Amino acid sequence: MIIVMKPGSKDSEIEEISGILENAGLGIHISRGIERTIIGVIGDKRLLRDIPLELMQGVDKLVPIMESYKLAGKTFKPEPSIIDVGGVKIGGRELVMIAGPCAVEGPDQIMEAAKAVSRSGAQFLRGGAFKPRTSPYSFQGLEEEGLKMLKEASNATGLQIVTEVISERSVEIASRYVDMFQIGARNSQNFHLLREVGRSGKPVLFKRGSATTIDEWLNAAEYIMSEGNYNVVLCERGIRTFETATRNTLDISSIPVVKSKSHLPVIVDPSHAAGRAQYILPLSRAAIAAGADGLIIEVHPCPRCALSDAAQQLDPAAYDALCKDIGKIAEIVGREFRYGA
Ligand code: PEP
Ligand code: MN
Repeated sequence: MIIVMKPGSKDSEIEEISGILENAGLGIHISRGIERTIIGVIGDKRLLRDIPLELMQGVDKLVPIMESYKLAGKTFKPEPSIIDVGGVKIGGRELVMIAGPCAVEGPDQIMEAAKAVSRSGAQFLRGGAFKPRTSPYSFQGLEEEGLKMLKEASNATGLQIVTEVISERSVEIASRYVDMFQIGARNSQNFHLLREVGRSGKPVLFKRGSATTIDEWLNAAEYIMSEGNYNVVLCERGIRTFETATRNTLDISSIPVVKSKSHLPVIVDPSHAAGRAQYILPLSRAAIAAGADGLIIEVHPCPRCALSDAAQQLDPAAYDALCKDIGKIAEIVGREFRYGA
């Protein structure tokens, strides 16, 4: 439920209502618009059964939230969320770039990748240490050793680290080394894991599953948020369609659709959508033009030597060229873009 205040309602009226809600054991979220203030109520509204909120000074109306996702939805919080990860803001005017290899393969590889993407202006280093591979015989990641390498690369460059977690155990280990968890497409409806990262309180880059609808994706995000962790960034990474020319089909339309339904930032992953390095640049342009808040791109110092996703990783020179190009698109759509270290 949300409480819509009358235009020009007083701070004292808003404080009085907030106090009543908190005393009743409910959480609140206040959105101050130009004309009106909206108070989002978090928790079981039956706790308010005997309190005539609609009769209180300054209250215009009480509106139930119809969507099954409440915290992730725009009714609850109309203004866009800006998620702060170690001082880097995702969802503001400035676009965010996350780059790095598919997987951490060794100390030199990850250090080289980190230095290269940092030179081109990335704010985050990505790299999987726990790899959920389609085949059990493929490279599964370096686990904690990989996380230590990521941390060293982060210390040397100042980049924030985002890495995928796939189980309770990996959440526990990774929480000691990384700034943001990634939930991958394969775990996008692993509700137990979603609750777990929700309880961790750490920011989460939450990928869309390859066969989940936007509605299912937002409901799954709600699992994280319902544990009190509102630091969720959505990531569109392509969905499975009948088309086989690309690995997945990048659903560009999900960007404006999600933005119309949710206040959460949206990052686009053209690498896993396309599956081919040659398509990354045009898809990145399209994503930024359609309103994405940033990109996550796989970059490897030697793509053809990569132990996973070799065909889609950019080399540092191609990544640098992409960054220069994206700056121009950013300007057209009124966003800022940081190029260079
Ligand atoms: C990844 O980011 O390396 C990954 C496995 O992506 P996805 O979950 O989108 O397939
Ligand atoms: Mn990958």
